[in-house]
Order: sequence, then C-alpha cells, then structure tokens
Amino acid sequence: MTQDLLLELKSVDRRYDEGARKLTILEGADFSLKRGEMVALVAPSGAGKSTLLHTAGLLEWPDGGDVILNGQACGRLSDDQRTAIRRNEIGFVYQFHHLLPEFSALENVMMPQLVRGLSQTQASERAMQLLDYMKISHRAEHRPGELSGGEQQRVAIARAVANAPLLLLADEPTGNLDPTTAGYVFDALEALVRQSGLSALIATHNHDLAARMDRRVTLVEGKVVDF
Ligand code: ADP
Repeated sequence: MTQDLLLELKSVDRRYDEGARKLTILEGADFSLKRGEMVALVAPSGAGKSTLLHTAGLLEWPDGGDVILNGQACGRLSDDQRTAIRRNEIGFVYQFHHLLPEFSALENVMMPQLVRGLSQTQASERAMQLLDYMKISHRAEHRPGELSGGEQQRVAIARAVANAPLLLLADEPTGNLDPTTAGYVFDALEALVRQSGLSALIATHNHDLAARMDRRVTLVEGKVVDF
C-alpha cells in the first residue's frame, strides 16, 4: 500500500442471508481513498451504499477480502480493536443527526472527546472551535430539538470530527434537507474536510454536490466503479 492511500477495500465480499437465498451486495469490490481526498458515492437506493460505508467503517465484517485503514489490515482484528479504531480514526455522519436530545449542541460535540479521556475544558474548547467552524457556535447552548434540520446536521458533522479522525464516512448527510440548506451544510462540510486534510467518502443522491467532490464512484454488480 502506498503511503498516500488512507483506505483500501481489497476484493471485498458482503452477503446477507435472506432465508434460503443469499443476497450478494458486494462481490470482489475494490476501492481506494487517498489522504485528503473527497469522493462521492452515488447509486440508487438498495444498491449497497450503506453496506459499503459500514464495511469501510468497520461496523460490518466483510465476508471476503479485507479493509485496510491507514496501513492496517482490519479484517481479522477483534471487536475491541475495531471499536478502538472506529472511535479514534473514523467519523460517521448519517442522514438523521442522531444527536442526544437531552444535551446541548456543545455537549453533544464534547461527548466523544470525554469518552476518549479529554478534560471538560479541553473538550469544550475544541467543541466550540468545531461549532464555530461549522458556523453554528451561536446555537451552542441549544438542544437538538430547538435547532433546524440544517443546524442539527452541522452539529452532527462537528461531533463526527470531534476526535480528529482520519476518515469521514457520510451516508446521505444532506438527504433530509431542502436543496438550499443542503448546499450550505455541504459548504461547511467541504471547508472542514479541505482544511483538516480528512479523507471523506460521502453517499449522496445530490448530483450537484457529487460534482463538487474530487471523484465520483458508483456500485455496479457488487463492484465499485468510477463514473
Ligand atoms: P443503499 O444504502 O444503497 O440503499 P443498503 O446497503 O442499505 O443500500 O442495502 C443493500 C441491500 O442489502 C438492500 O437490498 C437491503 O435490503 C439489503 N440489506 C441491507 N442490510 C441488510 C441486513 N442486515 N440483512 C439483510 N439484508 C440487508
């Protein structure tokens, strides 16, 4: 693996058992993501985008092949090792924000840092910086229920990068927003990725946003192909 690759999927298979029949979602799928690269994953519903993201993000085990993250083959690691890598090196953003409703925006972004062992002061300073970066620091003390959909997603993105991951995986992060709001949220996400040198794989149905990324891939017959 060359040093400039952050993530590699090597001949990954992923199948689900559907009673008697096996559903093959990924079959011999190869994919690589360079450091600092931002790639759009565009494919119809049911094609396997979430499966690919979950496999790349070590949430699901490949049935065959391997996932190599930052030079480390992850396919045979224990659950604990995978969890540690996920916690430290990977940030996830979903279509729905999944913020904790009883905590403020600031506390939601502090939480992963506190779990990692940072002090309240350190976590709160970094959380505020990230909220500022996502242009939502003026709403830091508000709970998710008091924020708009676009604001909630900004907080969710700030939380995903709270522990300075190397890889950001996003599953339709603006899929729940109107086009104008989606554009603004994506502006902030893109600025964050570009500025921090993060690598990002972002599933989206939005072709305008996909066009702004470095590269676009889709899924065809279980394989990842450029388009
Ligand atoms: P996408 O994100 O592109 O909509 P998914 O990766 O969610 O696609 O799903 C791909 C296919 O795999 C779908 O047909 C879905 O029903 C099936 N699938 C996803 N997860 C499971 C699961 N845990 N068990 C069985 N089938 C699944």
